[in-house]
Amino acid sequence: MADLIIMSAQATEAEVQKVVSRVKQLGFNVHVSRGEEKTLIGLIGDTRGISDEVFRMLPGVLEVITILKEYKLVSREFKKEDTKVSIGDVSFSRENFVVIAGPCSVESEKGLLETAKIIKKAGGKILRGGAYKPRTSPYSFDGLGKEGLEILRRVREKTGLPVVTEVMAPEEVDLVASVADMLQIGARNMFNYRLLQRVGQSQKPVLLKRGFEAKLKEFLNSAEYILKEGNNQVILCERGIRTFDDEFTRNTLDLAAVPVLKKETHLPVIVDPSHGTGRRDLVFPMVKAALAAGADGVMVEVHPRPEEAFSDGFQSLRLDEFESLMKKLHPFLEVVGRRW
Ligand code: PEP
Ligand code: MN
Repeated sequence: MADLIIMSAQATEAEVQKVVSRVKQLGFNVHVSRGEEKTLIGLIGDTRGISDEVFRMLPGVLEVITILKEYKLVSREFKKEDTKVSIGDVSFSRENFVVIAGPCSVESEKGLLETAKIIKKAGGKILRGGAYKPRTSPYSFDGLGKEGLEILRRVREKTGLPVVTEVMAPEEVDLVASVADMLQIGARNMFNYRLLQRVGQSQKPVLLKRGFEAKLKEFLNSAEYILKEGNNQVILCERGIRTFDDEFTRNTLDLAAVPVLKKETHLPVIVDPSHGTGRRDLVFPMVKAALAAGADGVMVEVHPRPEEAFSDGFQSLRLDEFESLMKKLHPFLEVVGRRW
């Protein structure tokens, strides 16, 4: 991107003219301002599509400055009002605080149904559970696949809870979307641009998780990939980043990302304190902190018997712990004027 080109004090008129004609050739209008020492050449129009290198290498150019942001469709500058994302009759908006809950992986119909019933009764609005699991080790349990999707379908029918589940590959988007009410893009796939484009072409809302190595700018650019394809039903999820400190927590939950993202974008923002901390005893404190920071919801892992979970048992709440969390959350919701 290039919005303003500064010519060096020694640049000749011919060099200035060469830059001006290159700018015009690329289809932009140009504004030239001649100072006592330096000439400034401003590009008029949306410059996101051109690289600053195009100008940097021309003779006489001192510096190329970018003013526009790389992302556009996701930015508050482009759209002031909050985007309301709806999953069935659940909506992510300023008035609500949506609690998504469920096991890390879909393991059995009986276990998922037992979990989903408690989640619904306690006030959870969306059921989570992975059928396709990205695992660090290729030898770990990587989900039940199609069978897991069928279990999600049946549990959704029985409880009425909409489901969110991860999709890992572009060619599996249609299959996963045939069951899911919302498609999850996991942290490891936040940089998978083909996958982002593919979910952007689907009609389903997307839960985009921040990569553990991703800057917020990169996170917003990933969301831009989805919106650019015509799907603006995107929810951003802060799930902790990798820092030098992993002694007490699995990741460092970057809660400052919440108010930053709420300012920077019109999309809803939620927090995942389960992956963010890796510890069930830290989930409730971080849910409260997420609410206070302005998040539009949280996603927490819950399991009937965490000690037997196929994945992430250590960070999963037991069912009674989830019920108690929801009860204890009530007064905090009232303080900030949200409801679930
Ligand atoms: C998950 O939600 O179970 C998951 C795998 O999360 P993340 O992609 O954030 O690691
Ligand atoms: Mn997990």
